[in-house]
Amino acid sequence: MRVLGIETSCDETGVALYDTERGLLADALYSQVAMHARHGGVVPELASRDHVQRLLPLVQQVLDEAGCTVAEIDGIAYTAGPGLAGALLVGASAARALAFGWGIPALAVHHMEGHLLAPLLEDEPPAFPFVALLVSGGHTLLLEAQALGDYRILGESLDDAAGEAFDKAAKMMGLGYPGGPRISALAEQGDPQRFTFPRPMTDRPGLDFSFSGLKTYCLNTIAECGGRDGLSEQDRADIARAFEEAVVETLVIKCRRAMQQTGHRTLVMAGGVSANRRLRARLTEALGQATRKQQPVQVCYPRQELCTDNGAMIAFAGALRLAAGEHQQGLEIAVRARWPLTELAPV
Ligand code: ATP
Ligand code: MG
Ligand code: FE
Repeated sequence: MRVLGIETSCDETGVALYDTERGLLADALYSQVAMHARHGGVVPELASRDHVQRLLPLVQQVLDEAGCTVAEIDGIAYTAGPGLAGALLVGASAARALAFGWGIPALAVHHMEGHLLAPLLEDEPPAFPFVALLVSGGHTLLLEAQALGDYRILGESLDDAAGEAFDKAAKMMGLGYPGGPRISALAEQGDPQRFTFPRPMTDRPGLDFSFSGLKTYCLNTIAECGGRDGLSEQDRADIARAFEEAVVETLVIKCRRAMQQTGHRTLVMAGGVSANRRLRARLTEALGQATRKQQPVQVCYPRQELCTDNGAMIAFAGALRLAAGEHQQGLEIAVRARWPLTELAPV
């Protein structure tokens, strides 16, 4: 079965073609980052308009790259939420119109299920059941995945998402948008001994997160160094390092706890922040080895380009669901800006 995937939930137009026998056949992405960077963050109306311009040429590009004709496509999967309503509507309308025109089924995919399943696109994919850490621009979730569509939330952020915290800290230091990759690159030059930021909510039981306090801590540290415009390059690097260490260690502590609590042996990590090199290395180091209290855990994450938004994860999630017999009825085009992952039904 061949499925075209369309992702337009935020500031990336992603289109990909996935074949259940042969894997990923083509994957194209247009990032609007440069356009939004001028405004210091994503401007929803600009995002929608840009998706309108980019989407159909990307579909054509993917078909050309895969050497695939329209007649060879069996279904179209599109992100129906959560995300920016206007941006989602562009992808949903195009997907449903194409599917109607081509006489094939369309399927609404949950963006976070797309992220969650992205690690399964790699060689030697992890098998259910597993624990998943979803860390992106809008979400920080720890969940137990029993099977496709069967997810139980173990913990989540009570305020800012991990990626959002990176973006806000970067903005405070004048580093621009998106902040994650910039902080991460700067942190390499940082001195880990100079500042120590708190590890929020790790001193009490539970698997929830809170990252908004780190923002205040970051702001105060910047003020101690003379304010945003008084920061030297080394100050920035040292703050970036302390901030990154704090987020990474907090995530590692909660993941270790989740593995102990559930007894699962596989941890899947996905979403934009899972591209973070220190997080990947620390999680593997902390959970990979057996200890007295814990069995070794297999830590899985997607290749770098599949951590942030992309069409491949949507094509893949859609293919699994279409192959299981799911498809949309009627012609109504609906998206859900808010859509809890736990509302999905097991397939
Ligand atoms: P959501 O998936 O929750 O709707 P989103 O789609 O905007 O949000 P993603 O595209 O998955 O989020 O990820 C983008 C986020 O990942 C941004 O906040 C960005 O700063 C962060 N990010 C990307 N690369 C890195 C990195 N190397 N280190 C830390 N954060 C990163
Ligand atoms: Mg994005
Ligand atoms: Fe995302």
